[in-house]
Amino acid sequence: MELTVISGKGGTGKTSIAVAIAELERNTVKVDCDVDAPNFYLYYDGNDASCEDFSGGKKVVVDEELCISCGLCQDACQFSAIENGLVDFLNCEGCGACVLVCPTQAASLKEEKTADIFVTDTGKGILSRAEVEIGSEGSGKLITILRKAAKPYTDGKITVSDGSPGIGCPVISSITGTDAVLIVTEPTQSGMEDLGRVVTLCRQFKILIFVCINKVDINKQISTEIEEYCLEKNLLLAGRIPYDDTVLRSINELKPIIFYSESPANEAIRQMWKTIKKEIFKD
Ligand code: SF4
Ligand code: SF4
Repeated sequence: MELTVISGKGGTGKTSIAVAIAELERNTVKVDCDVDAPNFYLYYDGNDASCEDFSGGKKVVVDEELCISCGLCQDACQFSAIENGLVDFLNCEGCGACVLVCPTQAASLKEEKTADIFVTDTGKGILSRAEVEIGSEGSGKLITILRKAAKPYTDGKITVSDGSPGIGCPVISSITGTDAVLIVTEPTQSGMEDLGRVVTLCRQFKILIFVCINKVDINKQISTEIEEYCLEKNLLLAGRIPYDDTVLRSINELKPIIFYSESPANEAIRQMWKTIKKEIFKD
């Protein structure tokens, strides 16, 4: 069973909640799909069982010995990424137009490494994660491969994935084929709008949806509106997590919130997980 924790935007407390749920079960498989801002792994020590290069696309390279500085590549490039055979790698989109016009075959496309993919043995189940190269972006393809890397370890275990925020390609790759999503929102106007967008996206994929309102007490009026929205859309509101300073402590100490017995957020997350499990495993 795979549960993917997502949110309409970053900063809602998604990772803290994903880590807490992962720690409430024994030996969960963990996947950090938030590749542009990965921090799931910070909570775990462990040994990397494997590390593989990931190529996210191609970039042009120019063989200086063959280049005659004719400037045709510059005219063909729509991204101002090449000038007389000198390539600006940050702007090159790998479209290949310069390769087509180059009269001497000096320009060619080469695979570019954009990330390392690690499978880390945390001692409490594995964690699949990526380290994206500076200047590169995470992509749906990278997330699909990260999830595949975790697959051999998932037999009979619960997988908890920290999904990408938003509604773009990375989040689509995070939720495709997952069993359920937990959408973490917060009671702000933008939180509500983001929730609507992400619910629409998940509904298109026909995934079981749970919603949780984090910091539920910071704006009671909007929290009530979110509850009404869930009722109207027939969404299971699985958790109402109160604002709790202990969560900040837990982030600073990189210790999952479930280990702070005095924490009201810890208690609310435990209750929420019970509700989610009851619904998922009811058959
Ligand atoms: S088109 Fe080819 S030969 Fe001409 S400047 Fe560009 S890389 Fe050099
Ligand atoms: S591959 Fe495309 S984007 Fe890159 S330098 Fe050539 S024409 Fe420009």
